[in-house]
Amino acid sequence: MGGPAVSLASVSAYLDHAATTPMRPEAVDAMLPFLDVRFANPSGAHRMARDARRAIDDARDEVAELVGAHPREVVFTSGGTESDNLAVFGAARAGAPAITVAGGTVVCSAVEHHAVLDPVESLGGCTVAVDASGRVDLDDLAAVLEQEAAREAAGEGPGVRIVSVMAANNEVGTIQPLVEVADAVRRLAPHAVLHTDAVQAFCWTDVAALTAVADLVSLSAHKFGGPKGVGVLVAKGDITVAPRQLGGGQERGLRSGTQNVAGIVAAATAARLTAEARPVEVERVAKLRDRLLDGLLASVPGLVETGAVGGAAGPDRRHRVAGTAHVCIEGVESEALLYLLERSEVYASAASSCSSGAMETSHVLAAMGVAPDLRGGSLRLSLGWSTTDAEIDHALAVLPAAVEHLRAGGL
Ligand code: PLP
Repeated sequence: MGGPAVSLASVSAYLDHAATTPMRPEAVDAMLPFLDVRFANPSGAHRMARDARRAIDDARDEVAELVGAHPREVVFTSGGTESDNLAVFGAARAGAPAITVAGGTVVCSAVEHHAVLDPVESLGGCTVAVDASGRVDLDDLAAVLEQEAAREAAGEGPGVRIVSVMAANNEVGTIQPLVEVADAVRRLAPHAVLHTDAVQAFCWTDVAALTAVADLVSLSAHKFGGPKGVGVLVAKGDITVAPRQLGGGQERGLRSGTQNVAGIVAAATAARLTAEARPVEVERVAKLRDRLLDGLLASVPGLVETGAVGGAAGPDRRHRVAGTAHVCIEGVESEALLYLLERSEVYASAASSCSSGAMETSHVLAAMGVAPDLRGGSLRLSLGWSTTDAEIDHALAVLPAAVEHLRAGGL
């Protein structure tokens, strides 16, 4: 017998959309027939198999249109992590004689998700600095690319094979200047592939604009109202990517393995609903986010909006996705605060979620230059399609008291 299911009480606030979103009901409805009567293997030859294959083709057409790509450029994967790994390893090893040999230098920003950062580090790559708001330092990027170009010209290095800069950060929500990044890459490393991890961007920005400047784009369905375990890698037509796994040759040979038909169909449905609602949702959610942040800044002494820049008119949140509110609270331990918040039915997180659920120190906050004692009190409140005014009211009612309680020595 399992434990009691967690259900959201009438007064509760799920503010962890950056970790995962609740599935949109229409996406659940879309996937159910493929778990039941339309269960066939899409690689088969009979009528039932053709039906499953057609469903994937339709989903591919839909996703392609939404991200400004050709259907052939849409590769379905098992999630954002696989899409990122396929992009980094696949581009680094494209054309290399063996699947384990890297063919060039790899570069990424210092604030990437581990799904990019760890592959880059394992290939001996390097990271580019960010400023205090978390945006890539374009001068540092240019310096890294120029240095690698000089090494290549001198016969001392293989040249840059891939540059990966995320579209929006998962911890603090910073939107990267991807057009400027692309401009630097095309000028200084014309043979490099540009990848962007748009996993946290899909809800808030038009991904077609990213596809227009990047060669590879990663998405994950569970971040936009779709199911877990489904991702997309958009791989532009002329880009060569070496597969990570070999087998049945599905997904143009780039991702062998029987496709998750139900998940792919649901992902396309969620993507369509998200894209259709985006203009209205960005405005609605940004207002909720601003109310939450401004309310917390006014009611919790020693609370700092992470990476906030701005002047007398207040913090400038233009380079933040609408759904993310990140703060650091002086004299408070994140773990204790999260525990208290959970007791009052406020669900949030400190940094990105990791498999153990344990706290890890944030490389993102460190790269942004947030002081170590402040980092210990980090709190991410992330909003999304299901977030309501009542949830924000609840969080605003609970949080100041929880901080006060902790500061008074309680738990
Ligand atoms: N990239 C970013 C920016 C993310 O936020 C996440 C998930 O948190 C991932 C990649 C990994 O995606 P998935 O959970 O689908 O593997």
